[in-house]
Amino acid sequence: MFQVFARGGRKTFSDNDLRTPLSNGSSSGESPVRHVHMAILGTGFAGLGMAIRLKQEGHNDFVVLERAADIGGTWRDNTYPGCACDIPSHLYSFSFALNPNWSRAYSPQGEIQDYLRSCAKRFGILPHIQWNSELQQAAWSEDDHCWHLTTTQGQLLADLLILGNGPLSEPSLPAIPGIEGFEGTLFHSAQWRHDYDLTGKRVAVIGTGASAVQFVPQIQPHVAHLSLFLRTPPWIVPRLDHPIPAWQRTLFRFLPITQRVVRTIIYWQRELLALGLVYRPAVLEDGMQIARRHLAKQVADPVLRAKLTPEYILGCKRILLSDDFYPALTQPNVEVITDRIREVRAHSIMTEDGREREVDTIICGTGFHVTDAQLPQRIYGHGGQSLAEKWHPSSSAYKGTTVAGFPNLFLLIGPNTGLGHNSMVFMIEAQIQYILDCLHTMKRRRLLAVEVRPDQEETFNRELQRRMRRTVWTSGCASWYLDASGRNTTLWPGFTFEFWRRTRHFDPQHYHLIPRTASQRVATSTS
Ligand SMILES: Cc1cc2nc3c(=O)[nH]c(=O)nc-3n(C[C@H](O)[C@H](O)[C@H](O)COP(=O)(O)OP(=O)(O)OC[C@H]3O[C@@H](n4cnc5c(N)ncnc54)[C@H](O)[C@@H]3O)c2cc1C
Repeated sequence: MFQVFARGGRKTFSDNDLRTPLSNGSSSGESPVRHVHMAILGTGFAGLGMAIRLKQEGHNDFVVLERAADIGGTWRDNTYPGCACDIPSHLYSFSFALNPNWSRAYSPQGEIQDYLRSCAKRFGILPHIQWNSELQQAAWSEDDHCWHLTTTQGQLLADLLILGNGPLSEPSLPAIPGIEGFEGTLFHSAQWRHDYDLTGKRVAVIGTGASAVQFVPQIQPHVAHLSLFLRTPPWIVPRLDHPIPAWQRTLFRFLPITQRVVRTIIYWQRELLALGLVYRPAVLEDGMQIARRHLAKQVADPVLRAKLTPEYILGCKRILLSDDFYPALTQPNVEVITDRIREVRAHSIMTEDGREREVDTIICGTGFHVTDAQLPQRIYGHGGQSLAEKWHPSSSAYKGTTVAGFPNLFLLIGPNTGLGHNSMVFMIEAQIQYILDCLHTMKRRRLLAVEVRPDQEETFNRELQRRMRRTVWTSGCASWYLDASGRNTTLWPGFTFEFWRRTRHFDPQHYHLIPRTASQRVATSTS
């Protein structure tokens, strides 16, 4: 048995109230369990943005659960050399907290993390954060209509659960025979080993995605030899990064409207790309010409150039930006290998052609578990069904935010909210607005819970998948945008302003609305 301190008084639950008995030491005996109105997961752009906007609207009864000991999500974890954003910083930041001090067009990781830290401090979010608190399980209780959360720091009850656990927060290692028997040093780019000196080492890099094109040019001058294992070459266009001059930063500081104008111009430039990606892939031919010219200019060797020339339409996989990746590959200590890896041995890598290359270090730039993440296996809705079960074989949500069978659950960057062309912060803010409007509706109509209707969720996703069929992402390449069944459950198939328009207002007519009865505790949103 354990007790809950709630505004309506103290309520006692038995372990049977939960789907799985909670085993944390704090549940033994009669220990009280904290009950909050809202629990938010994560302190990346999503969780932090949600917390800030709640605070701005006068909400205080919320907790932010963060498994790590610092702010930042993506920008805390990815510390590899050269890590930076690939959407210009003026746009890749909160609309309500422009930063006039960005040092470069594409700011480095440390600066982005500092920005997030300063936002947390400035908007008073730090006291709400429960550090080193990993959400292990969340179960919706039909009896008391709230979420029962198990974290590494104990238990918690929350009326609403908002997941900002990140689409790219679970590093994925390649399943290559023998890799677990490698006796050298192996790590993922999102878990960079700063204690390990690469100088003079024979290094193998597996993967050529957005992270690898950033760190390869940084490590190449220092290593003895770099073997780059390349399966499918990415399309790479010029990055054109540059420092932001001091006079511009001063201008942005004293005349913030000027930065907003720059931000708006960047937004519409990026948005134009959706025209090609979503509606008319033929429009992308110009982009492919630019990328081919970039390659030809930077790589003189025709054999290497052939290896680096993509054979699919630009945009089908993420378009990468780099001015120094190709030059790094032309250096004498670099070999680009397109033969598939057959096996990893204790000190070497064997390829399909029978060649064996000795290596001291393997760095995996192999991305993240996106469509097969762990957390959905531990979120239980109506009838004890897990989100992973509900999402088998393909994930889906209503407006990327709510899921039938999971009342009072909100996803930030849920299914089909990712982008191949614009800032994810824009999508996050659109979803936050939708959730805030839902909270207004719940308060105004005295609702205990909201749950999207299955027919609405289905109609929405049928439309998405119909639109997806004509996009560049389904033009035939293999990419992390697609799940095991070949569906694109990752990206938004449209302009971002359309997503913004569709999430501006909560739409109660598409939801089951569960009213509060007089006896139930008053879930006021302010305290
Ligand atoms: C290297 C890299 C570069 C990128 N560059 C860009 C870019 O330029 N532009 C762009 O638009 N997007 C970019 N992205 C995508 C980026 O992930 C998003 O833009 C955004 O940062 C996601 O924010 P988030 O808060 O949703 O997730 P995250 O930043 O991943 O934060 C999730 C947080 O949740 C916490 N968490 C997860 N699970 C649990 C749990 N069970 N319990 C407690 N806490 C948990 C994590 O510790 C983390 O702090 C990039 C991604 C990577 C990896």
